[in-house]
Amino acid sequence: MNMSQHRDTICVQGGYTPGNGEPRQIPIVQSTTFKYNTSEDMGKLFDLEAEGYFYSRLQNPTCDAVAAKICALEGGTAGMLTSSGQAANFYAVFNIAGCGDHVVACSTIYGGTFNLFNVTMRRMGVDFTFVRPDCTDEELAAAFKPNTKAVFGETIANPALTVLDIERFAKAAHDHGVPLIVDNTFATPVNCRPFEWGADIVTHSTTKYMDGHGAGVGGCIVDSGKFDWTKYPDKFPGLCTPDESYHGVTYTERFGLEGAFITKATAQLMRDFGSTQSPQTAFLLNLGLESLHVRMQRHCANGLAVAQFLQNHPKISWVTYCDLPGDQYHEMAKKYLPNGSCGVVSFGVKGGRKAAETFMKHLKLAAIETHVADARTCCLHPASATHRQMNDEELVAAGVSPDLVRMSCGLEAAEDLIADIAQALEQV
Ligand code: PLP
Repeated sequence: MNMSQHRDTICVQGGYTPGNGEPRQIPIVQSTTFKYNTSEDMGKLFDLEAEGYFYSRLQNPTCDAVAAKICALEGGTAGMLTSSGQAANFYAVFNIAGCGDHVVACSTIYGGTFNLFNVTMRRMGVDFTFVRPDCTDEELAAAFKPNTKAVFGETIANPALTVLDIERFAKAAHDHGVPLIVDNTFATPVNCRPFEWGADIVTHSTTKYMDGHGAGVGGCIVDSGKFDWTKYPDKFPGLCTPDESYHGVTYTERFGLEGAFITKATAQLMRDFGSTQSPQTAFLLNLGLESLHVRMQRHCANGLAVAQFLQNHPKISWVTYCDLPGDQYHEMAKKYLPNGSCGVVSFGVKGGRKAAETFMKHLKLAAIETHVADARTCCLHPASATHRQMNDEELVAAGVSPDLVRMSCGLEAAEDLIADIAQALEQV
């Protein structure tokens, strides 16, 4: 892959270069299995001694081509697709933090990820400390423990829309000898590349802007290849000592820093948990990626137009959108997201929960959906949906007030979206 190419070009052509007479579009390799002439050939693949495909639960050519495109977009060294964003975040953390380990995570992360960490992974013996994205350096340093293995945050948090100070969090992680994992779903690599600011691993729910059309649930993990696991072999034995479950391979030795993390996640986690993306879904994802750079511009323009309209409306109590001057995270957005953030705007309707529900009921263009970051405008009341498992204290820490409405501005004309919002507010 030519890393000097512009992101727009990688969106369109990255990951797959057809040879003479080969299909221009990425072929969908709809095959679970691959044929070999000898058992010896097959054995070499199982021993990770030869490159090739043997079973689509682990790897598939269509999925690999699309992962390579996302990897190039992020500026990483290796990438893998997963069946969902949840699987991507689970794998990214579990690949280095197991029973008895600890992770520092931002409190404003997506509710599903918060539950994965705070409930399910705790049940697996992984401990978490949650810190506010605007915590002081002292508070951040105090969150680390001797058994901390990673720091986790979202570039733009869903739905609190806080912006992660990636450089500051990366420094704190590195000062403690652990990597920073950033979920870059809302910003996408078109608007922010966390690796340029010191992040080590990036994850995505490709279900969102990358697919962009509400067509396929999926996820992705990309490794920067920059974190030196071998400096901390006691902390990361899974990467630095032989894996008896995989023919005694030592991932850092065999695949180097650029390939160790993703090879281990594929060989162990995909093998054992099987949260693989289907080639059909990867094909649809690639169609979305081909226009991601064009769509993000419109999502951002519509988000800003809607945020500005809401900001001046007498029935709106507050608006959070980091591209608005005066927003708590505006300065951070100028640094990390100079070309725009995303199309998601959070706001409160005067009158609280009841008013928010009345408003949403009267929207005609914007549909009520759990989904977000889609071509079609949609909205959600997180306190009664995605975040309903949280108690009031956790809701406050997650930046989700009971009146919060999350509006995901799609690709329609901004004037039509604003007219729809205006008429629905009249009914409140
Ligand atoms: N990360 C973020 C920031 C999200 O917004 C979501 C879902 O909304 C996820 C992860 C989980 O992704 P998925 O729904 O694809 O499992």
